[in-house]
Amino acid sequence: MVRAVVGANWGDEGKGKITDMLAENSDIIVRFQGGSNAGHTIVNDYGKFALHILPSGIFYGHTTSIIGNGVAFSVPAFFNEINELVERGVPKPKVLISNRAQIVMPYHILFDECEEERLGKKSFGSTKSGIAPFYSDKYSKVGFQVSELFDEGRLREHVKSVCEQKDIILQHMYHKEPINQEELINTLFEYRDMVEPYVCDTAAFLRDAIREGKTILLEGQLGTLKDPDFGIYPMVTSSSTLAAYGAIGAGIPPYEIKDIIAVVKAYSSAVGAGEFVSELHGKEADELRNRGGDGGEFGATTGRPRRVGWLDTVASRYGAHMQSATQVALTVLDVLGYLEEIPVCTAYEIDGEITKDFPVTARLAKAKPVFTVLPGWKCDIRGIQKYEDLPENCRKYIEFVEKEIGVRITMVSNGPGRSDIIYR
Ligand code: GDP
Repeated sequence: MVRAVVGANWGDEGKGKITDMLAENSDIIVRFQGGSNAGHTIVNDYGKFALHILPSGIFYGHTTSIIGNGVAFSVPAFFNEINELVERGVPKPKVLISNRAQIVMPYHILFDECEEERLGKKSFGSTKSGIAPFYSDKYSKVGFQVSELFDEGRLREHVKSVCEQKDIILQHMYHKEPINQEELINTLFEYRDMVEPYVCDTAAFLRDAIREGKTILLEGQLGTLKDPDFGIYPMVTSSSTLAAYGAIGAGIPPYEIKDIIAVVKAYSSAVGAGEFVSELHGKEADELRNRGGDGGEFGATTGRPRRVGWLDTVASRYGAHMQSATQVALTVLDVLGYLEEIPVCTAYEIDGEITKDFPVTARLAKAKPVFTVLPGWKCDIRGIQKYEDLPENCRKYIEFVEKEIGVRITMVSNGPGRSDIIYR
């Protein structure tokens, strides 16, 4: 059985926590897209961890973690994370890396930095992990697959031809030094020696696992609104954030993905630039940001303050729908316990018209939020384990959101820990 945990919003919905929780009863956890540009924060018996490239199921002894072919694979990020885990007492995880995953090259990071610098105020707010240049190269067919590291002749030739093109852009567009090819080759040899014990045909491994009836969890990064096709293009990420892409980014049959858990956050947060209709500013935003998440809404990768706003059910309904969600997990609900009243953006006004349909970016820029205000519950709901024990207004909030989104909310997360979860 294959199950996916994916974001219905702009990312940072708490997918890491849900994945970590569900991993207890899973055999294999797969990252199928994105790279080390986003972070998943996990709080469990070993402590608090920010994972960027490793799947969130890494903490259990019984699971196998997979870096799928769809991932932007950063070798240094991967080893830094594994080393940190081991140093902090987590048993060395069992990880497999797809032989078809492509490698984030040092120059991808350089190009990411140069381009953001060039764009100045119009920048994307990239984490500068090289993700956009990486995927550009993958689709321009000049990327490096992991398997190429093991063919020296081919590798040298490939480096030479790529550098010819990269050097022109580096020198003439960004006024930087050309790439040192010998140094790059040596770095790639180091990468080869590091990854060798982990590399295999993960698609074949997964095919066998499915045949044997294993439970597989696909872990998405970011959320629907950052998807290059269905998100707020161009302020999106460079790989598909949709569960459907799990079939491609992991190499499994699409019809095997039986269960899709879309994670929706009880309020909104976003990093990077782009339209954000229900965004808050000033004091209200500061208060929500500081109380939000687990110790404030600050990026797990960059530490930068996240943009925050009220829950947007127009975006979340669309987000869950595009994920083909079979169920919704509503997270960080505990954070809203301080509010007398809770506004929810339930429609947009665009050119004087009211709509509940999420529009294309050009129209989204004109959208103004239409709020429905619900009464707050004014207490701390952390520690509550049964749905019936939640305050009435809190249940009403959940049921209201469920109706607006149109997908059953089966899990409510009321704290960052593994056990802070209420099943409905
Ligand atoms: P991801 O990228 O979707 O995995 O989300 P992040 O890890 O970036 O952000 C979620 C943040 O919220 C993390 O700091 C989590 O520890 C925290 N978190 C997750 N679920 C809850 C919850 O129910 N309540 C609270 N207060 N924090 C939560």
